[in-house]
Amino acid sequence: MKVAIFTFSLFGINTYVVYDPDSKKAVIIDPGMINDEEESAMAGFIKRNGLKVTNVINTHLHIDHAIGNKRASKMFDAPILAHADDQFLGARLREQAQMFGIAEKIDEMSVSSYLNEGDVINVGNGRLKVIHVPGHSPGGIALYDEADGFVIVGDSLFESSVGRTDLPGGNHATLINAVKTKLMTLPPNTVVYPGHGAPTTIGREKAGNPFLV
Ligand SMILES: [Zn+2]
Ligand SMILES: [Zn+2]
Repeated sequence: MKVAIFTFSLFGINTYVVYDPDSKKAVIIDPGMINDEEESAMAGFIKRNGLKVTNVINTHLHIDHAIGNKRASKMFDAPILAHADDQFLGARLREQAQMFGIAEKIDEMSVSSYLNEGDVINVGNGRLKVIHVPGHSPGGIALYDEADGFVIVGDSLFESSVGRTDLPGGNHATLINAVKTKLMTLPPNTVVYPGHGAPTTIGREKAGNPFLV
């Protein structure tokens, strides 16, 4: 599958479109579109490439990763998927938005179905495997494409860093353990697409990430 990266909103959130160029099926991961301009950028890309969006997926339900959920699911008529352990964050999206003074940007939205460790999301002929990576938030997930060697990790792992664990439900030891046992065990050449900042690889982080030694 192919990966297109958009960086949106005041949060600098990476929104990923993962798509199968043969069947033209696509999923939008962590939609961060916050205004009409960002919405048009996304809609234009989908249209130009003739894609059909089948799902919106959240790596976790922090406001920056879910702020465009309603726009994306409405625009493409696509159900929203997330991990059940972040349900409490989904219920508090407006409260999270208020902390940034952007409550008016949030419409009520509902997750259509909840994901679990080991679930597989089909994207045309491609597959994304759900890996539960708790610690940054209880319901954090990574989405792994084994065939094409990439993983979308949300805020669990960054280039030379890991996610903060001082938000509700966060736990540093849990995060480090999950990253070490569930992400660092993927093949070293696996490309890592984080929720913020530049892509990296499992091998590079294994060798040089100071939080994982
Ligand atoms: Zn987060
Ligand atoms: Zn984030």
